[in-house]
Amino acid sequence: MSRVESVQQAFRETFGMAPEGCWQAPGRVNLIGEHTDYNQGFVLPFAIDRQAVVALRRRADGRVRLASAHPASKPVAGRVADAGAARGWSAYLLGVVWALQQRGVEVPGFDLFVDSTVPTGAGLSSSAALESATALALNELLQAGLSREELVLVGQHAENDVVGAPTGILDQSASLLSEAGHAVFLDCRSRESEPVPLDLPGAGLVILVVDTKVSHAHADGGYADRRASCERAAAALGIAALRDLEPADLPRAERLLDQETFRRARHIVTENARVLETVSVLRSAGPGEIGGILDRSHRSMRDDFEISSPELDLAVATAQANGALGARMTGGGFGGSAIALVREPDAGKVGAAVEAVFRTAGLAAPDVFEVLPGPGAQRLV
Ligand code: ADP
Ligand code: MG
Repeated sequence: MSRVESVQQAFRETFGMAPEGCWQAPGRVNLIGEHTDYNQGFVLPFAIDRQAVVALRRRADGRVRLASAHPASKPVAGRVADAGAARGWSAYLLGVVWALQQRGVEVPGFDLFVDSTVPTGAGLSSSAALESATALALNELLQAGLSREELVLVGQHAENDVVGAPTGILDQSASLLSEAGHAVFLDCRSRESEPVPLDLPGAGLVILVVDTKVSHAHADGGYADRRASCERAAAALGIAALRDLEPADLPRAERLLDQETFRRARHIVTENARVLETVSVLRSAGPGEIGGILDRSHRSMRDDFEISSPELDLAVATAQANGALGARMTGGGFGGSAIALVREPDAGKVGAAVEAVFRTAGLAAPDVFEVLPGPGAQRLV
């Protein structure tokens, strides 16, 4: 049975009728561009080959019933009118309903079953996969006529205002705007996006994700603190956002800022430059040549922005020492996941080396798995 058939069957078993359709939306990996989003800079994520699939059927009575194949997510039933008050896992889906309602879309009620292969909390944005699949499905079935770019904002508002997580547009953009075999180059100021070729199989490469399964207690405080540093630096330099600071301006910035704030600002400036460099190298030479940029990005996050962790540094150094072309932590930092760009035949060796070194160091076993660029969100049937 195909994946979509099994989701259709699960929907029928749960709700006693066939769904009207099935939609998928992928998780993502951020290839490069960390903490640049809220500085109105550049990011370069790609949709991965793991997706949330939702099956949906409209109801006329204003009620909504939600179920997930995920064992930790109990079925939820309620009223569409209460969408904005949703809590727990249903907040990601009902947050989308609420954000659509805010835009004047009338949502009549529906039954929805979701089955996702994006692991939760591994830094691959299982949450945006859920939101994007739901937003695309409702937009189509209700003929709401919103563009993909508007659906990105619908997902963001769901996450900001109903879930309560202060996230940008990176995750939903990757999920909704990706094309197969491409990364999404996103300008977080203008919100313009462009596909950039990322043919890993064609170059004999894969990306290994190392989920350290460690989230340090100060992660939330650290994120807010870095944001505050960036805002302070921009204010002291008289610019709207650190996006407006050019590499050539760094000596002046160093004179005006205290040492720590300067290093934070330097990460943003050099990281934006590295995103642009990665885009240009991907277009001219291909993914086999971006390893060094990934390595430099990690050093900048470790030494200048100080958001890495001992586990992430160990994963990155071990991957680099065992033949990875490049490696870096990815995501907000203070734990979470690292990525390594490796030749396909080396993937097993690199993964085993990382697992071995974590064992020797007495650390919890990481999850190591391969991802490839996959298609963006789309209707399946
Ligand atoms: P990430 O997006 O990095 O995976 P988040 O904490 O942002 O981590 O989102 C994870 C949450 O999303 C889960 O705790 C759960 O509430 C929800 N979620 C993700 N996938 C599923 C799923 N398949 N079924 C139900 N809820 C899910
Ligand atoms: Mg998330």
